[in-house]
Amino acid sequence: MKLFTVGPVEMYPETLKLASEQLPYFRTPEFSEVMFDNDRLLKQSMGVKQADKTIFLTASGTGAMEATVMNCFSPQDRLLIINGGSFGERFSEISRIHNIPYDEIKLEFGETLTQEKMEVYSECRHAGLLVNLHETSTGQLYDIQMLSDYCKEHQMFLVVDAIGACFADTVDFAKYGIDVLILSSQKALALSPGISMVVISERMYKERVSRISPSSLYFDFKRYIVNLERGQTPYTPAVGILLELQERLHAIQELGIERVRKNIKILAERFREKAIEKGFRIPNYPLSNALTPVILTPYAEIIYERLKEEYGLVVTPSGGALKDTLVRVGHLGNLEWSDYEELLENMKQIQESL
Ligand SMILES: *Cc1c(COP(=O)(O)O)cnc(C)c1O
Repeated sequence: MKLFTVGPVEMYPETLKLASEQLPYFRTPEFSEVMFDNDRLLKQSMGVKQADKTIFLTASGTGAMEATVMNCFSPQDRLLIINGGSFGERFSEISRIHNIPYDEIKLEFGETLTQEKMEVYSECRHAGLLVNLHETSTGQLYDIQMLSDYCKEHQMFLVVDAIGACFADTVDFAKYGIDVLILSSQKALALSPGISMVVISERMYKERVSRISPSSLYFDFKRYIVNLERGQTPYTPAVGILLELQERLHAIQELGIERVRKNIKILAERFREKAIEKGFRIPNYPLSNALTPVILTPYAEIIYERLKEEYGLVVTPSGGALKDTLVRVGHLGNLEWSDYEELLENMKQIQESL
């Protein structure tokens, strides 16, 4: 079985080895050192200043998205949400549940986010923008420079869910004036699912997080921030994934973040070129390096099923309205070009047989 999914993805041998070992007890100085190391390396890799705050949350990415909204905003605020697919829709759902008013820029499938679409809301005095930098359900990568400029001009907090983008596309916290960055273990980091990281700017911490008391014990960021000062989390974390993270972050540092991103980009570009040569259709909105959406109307689901059952190749199927239209081919984790040659060959064969 080979995974061309976006999370979990093909893991590296070093991660698999760690995942098979006995876990240590974690209220120890040794484990605190692991956490300090994770915090430092993560910040380095994302252009984050050491004074900014990291929260290591034992939750999937959605837990981190919800916790972010609860700790950074209140019903007195009004938010702007980019809803270009199911992950954007999730931010809207979270805001509704927490009674935070919002406007959304809704993109139909195939539509590109543009400056004009943003300007419609320019008089609305939004407190913050919530965006999934890479809307993983379609593969669209939004223009971070444009979003950053918009937030600066309108004095809004910029909240970036980079779960589907980090390590695959350029994410620079300080350069783009990001206030909250959300990451998760199971995507480009290629770790087990279960740990999400939220990085918060000093400004967001001082003006919002330190003053807001969310109606939640487990998701109160202040407790995580205070505990991390001694290298700890308030509750038992997914200890094993934090050890996997340390190993992975060291590997990324050794290779260099630019190289890591470049390697993913090379695979993505080569895959797109060969797929088009073979007659496959790829949408023309801006794409993340993390995955390539391939339009297979009306056979997407059938091709996904047959690739999995007949060849053990697992691409990412789509849900909802895109079920029969799109499969998504991931470029994250431990994959190499020969894997894609095999995939393209078999995809073509199945398509021709239909
Ligand atoms: C994967 C992903 C998430 C997290 O989903 P979970 O299933 O909760 O881990 C959130 N946002 C984006 C953009 C993603 O790609």
